Amino acid sequence: MTEKTIAAAGSAAGPISISSAFDSGNIVVRTIAGTSATLGIRRDEGSEFFQWFHFRVAAPPGAQLALDIVGLAGSAYPEGWPGYHACVSEDRVNWVRAETTWDAKADGGTLRIRHRTQSGILWLAYFPPYSMDRHHDLIGRTAALPGVAYRCLGYSLDNQPIDCLELGEGEKQVWLYARQHPGETMAEYWMEGAIDVLTDPGNSHGRLLRQKARFHLIPNMNPDGSFRGHLRTNAVGVNLNREWHAPTPERSPEVLCVRAAMEETGVAFAMDVHGDESIPAVFIAGFEGIPSLTERQLDLYRRYQDTLAIRTPDFQTKRGYPITPPGRANLTMSTAQLAERFGAVSMTLEMPFKDNDDLPDPVNGWSPARSRLLGRDCMAVLAEMIEDI
Ligand code: ZN
Repeated sequence: MTEKTIAAAGSAAGPISISSAFDSGNIVVRTIAGTSATLGIRRDEGSEFFQWFHFRVAAPPGAQLALDIVGLAGSAYPEGWPGYHACVSEDRVNWVRAETTWDAKADGGTLRIRHRTQSGILWLAYFPPYSMDRHHDLIGRTAALPGVAYRCLGYSLDNQPIDCLELGEGEKQVWLYARQHPGETMAEYWMEGAIDVLTDPGNSHGRLLRQKARFHLIPNMNPDGSFRGHLRTNAVGVNLNREWHAPTPERSPEVLCVRAAMEETGVAFAMDVHGDESIPAVFIAGFEGIPSLTERQLDLYRRYQDTLAIRTPDFQTKRGYPITPPGRANLTMSTAQLAERFGAVSMTLEMPFKDNDDLPDPVNGWSPARSRLLGRDCMAVLAEMIEDI
């Protein structure tokens, strides 16, 4: 960890203290006055990106906090702030959305968070965090289940393992991977839902999928960025989802080891799970611009989206990224690279940091629970079409 800031200040109005010196912590304390604080967000080490924040505040019980995070016009996705509400928890289990407003003009772009404390200590984050401890819990308890094999694919630059869980007896090779962008923690909650379906002996979708396919699950592709409190990059500021054409041990060993493992098995279906800062909807992006595009690939990709849209009102196909014109795919990105390299049906799933505006939940916004449910629905849809993949 670097540049972690612990600040404490006293005043007659009642002192508060703010800290981010923990797993995935990120905040810079500029000033504290009474129960108000002016804060900033630290850049991902070695890069220009910043957007992820996660910190705790100790304050007198019942205090009305005024927390302003400033300088956000220069963040990775300034359009992510209008309509966004910060996540807050007093027990680190239940997270809700705090009263939050965006002022584009004040102090280089200011997010104003207003919240009354109850117990006297609370945590705030860009999205409910997913700690490396929780990641180890997920790996350990899943690996202990019957029929699940654990495999270490390689190591990150900080020497953390790139964990892979494998299960299923079928021929079709399915790769699901999350958190290339470490601040997109909803992706690992999604993975919990997918794993629940795949490992439940009583779940018929899971049973069918295990019979037809071999699953390779990577719940966290970027443990270094996760622990360091990064939004988008690994320990040296590299965006892993721009490394898939030519990963190197120096810049992107995380991608290098995963791609090598994929070469061993081939890839029939792949899903790369993400969060999107700006668009208040769940959507999927594909591989339309790859040189070797086939009708079969495209048909299956569209069928997956259409079926998912029928299955859950939390998914839609109207809003999303512009479709890449023919031949213009960015092969540094995993979805395009895997579709081109393996002829895979591959896709990037994006969940919002804000909410699904078609079906909003003002208390929780988009949430870990909805991410897990979507993971379950995604596996059910895959089961519906696994024969044809
Ligand atoms: Zn992402």
